Amino acid sequence: MSKGKNTEHMMKTEQSSTVPRVGVSACLLGREVRFDGGHKHDRYVTGKLGEVFNLVPVCPEVEAGMGVPRPVIQLRRINGETRLMRSDGSIDYTEAMMKVASRRALTLGSEISGFIFKSKSPTCGMERVPMANAEGVKQDRSGVGLFVQQFTRLAPLVPIEEEGRLNDPMLRENFLERVYSFQRWKEVDPEDIRGFIAFHERHKLILMARGSACYSQLGRIVAGVTRKDLAQRREQYIATFMQVMKGLATRKRHYNVLQHVMGYFKQKIDSEDKRELLDLMQSYREMQVPLATPIAILKHHLRKHPDSYLRNQHYFDPYPGTLALRASI
Ligand code: SF4
Repeated sequence: MSKGKNTEHMMKTEQSSTVPRVGVSACLLGREVRFDGGHKHDRYVTGKLGEVFNLVPVCPEVEAGMGVPRPVIQLRRINGETRLMRSDGSIDYTEAMMKVASRRALTLGSEISGFIFKSKSPTCGMERVPMANAEGVKQDRSGVGLFVQQFTRLAPLVPIEEEGRLNDPMLRENFLERVYSFQRWKEVDPEDIRGFIAFHERHKLILMARGSACYSQLGRIVAGVTRKDLAQRREQYIATFMQVMKGLATRKRHYNVLQHVMGYFKQKIDSEDKRELLDLMQSYREMQVPLATPIAILKHHLRKHPDSYLRNQHYFDPYPGTLALRASI
């Protein structure tokens, strides 16, 4: 192997070995399962995301036996409870939908590493779903789809997002990071203390991009872990980790991470390269270049000056590079 190829290999972190399975509202995949017999095909989901995820279609309304086509349904608030009903009020689907969501959480919840939901749906909507009163008169947009409510209650670790929000580059990057981090977590042997500690260490920069306190907060859960309390610590760790990962990695925090990384090899590069890197980092901070630009230069220097700690950081390749998401944040 040539020196170049060898150092290239050295820079690669351990990506997850399997393609993450991700649940998707079936209508987003082009399945004609909507109430009117149509679909809501989302090209980004089936195109770009279909290349890096194994997409699992789910249509809770069809699974609840509502048929296609079917009358329109809505969320109603009745005596403080959310009910899923036909808009004409003739049928209450709440129990049927709760059963579908519970069964899916049980059968699918441990297999998938994420879920992409159709927005605004009384079943699949993650937020701002129209809510009606007991008479069926629309009141506000405070609802959450009934399937989502129950599924996330029973499978709270699974990262979720809506197709519309995936158009926002920051939210898209955040979702991808959460899915791939969760996938990597699932690949750690639950009996392996070293694997547990390594997972934490390899996500240090990703966590720092959510705020410098995040890594320390999780570090306290890992510190002093023993075989006896491993299971309990793991449970506490991943619940906290997935919660922390919901926080957006802001430009300022990425800048802090870049500075931290530069500190590891600033003695190894000459003053011209250092100046170029500092200028690029500043340009990134001032929104003149995307994150991909300083990261590419850092990776170039790290290939020339390998460092075992940085080499293992998932921050540099948190998900498949083909997505090129950091070219727009
Ligand atoms: S939004 Fe959900 S329930 Fe409605 S058609 Fe799409 S997958 Fe089915």
